[in-house]
Amino acid sequence: MTMDKSQLPKNTGSNNNTPQECAGCGKIITERYLLKALDMYWHEDCLKCGCCDCRLGEVGSTLFTKANLILCRRDYLRLFGHTGYCSACSKVIPAFEMVMRARNNVYHLECFACQQCNHRFCVGDRFYLCENKILCEYDYEERMVFANMAYNPPNIAQLKRHTSHIPKENQMLDPVVVTRD
Ligand SMILES: [Zn+2]
Ligand SMILES: [Zn+2]
Ligand SMILES: [Zn+2]
Ligand SMILES: [Zn+2]
Repeated sequence: MTMDKSQLPKNTGSNNNTPQECAGCGKIITERYLLKALDMYWHEDCLKCGCCDCRLGEVGSTLFTKANLILCRRDYLRLFGHTGYCSACSKVIPAFEMVMRARNNVYHLECFACQQCNHRFCVGDRFYLCENKILCEYDYEERMVFANMAYNPPNIAQLKRHTSHIPKENQMLDPVVVTRD
């Protein structure tokens, strides 16, 4: 991601007598204060975000430019920034979209469901991250049982034991509690 970033300098008192033309409206700046940004001069009122029209003239504020647009930080991130890639569908998650997080993974809200049975989680629900897949408690336990059977094919007696009691060594994953950003 390329980010053209210009730090606004302090308002420059026009000590020099050469009148400057405003890059926004094209008129001569006669006010005592003018702004310098992107190597051009601006009326305080003319340096605005091209998207939300907010004034960018606050001393020390940061503006962003992209494709001839001047944008405030919020709009820049909204339009061009992104949070990362959804661990479920692998698509980009735009910045400022609500996301779910599990360990180092981020998910679209609508993608955050058990990848086995599509169960949606509510805040406070427990889920498991197993081989980087989200699983509900039920599917996680199922998987553990099957993993154990594959590893060590059971006779009927063992199978009975496995379904009612999951061996300790397969419970290494801690449940993760759903939180919201
Ligand atoms: Zn102007
Ligand atoms: Zn804006
Ligand atoms: Zn997704
Ligand atoms: Zn499930």
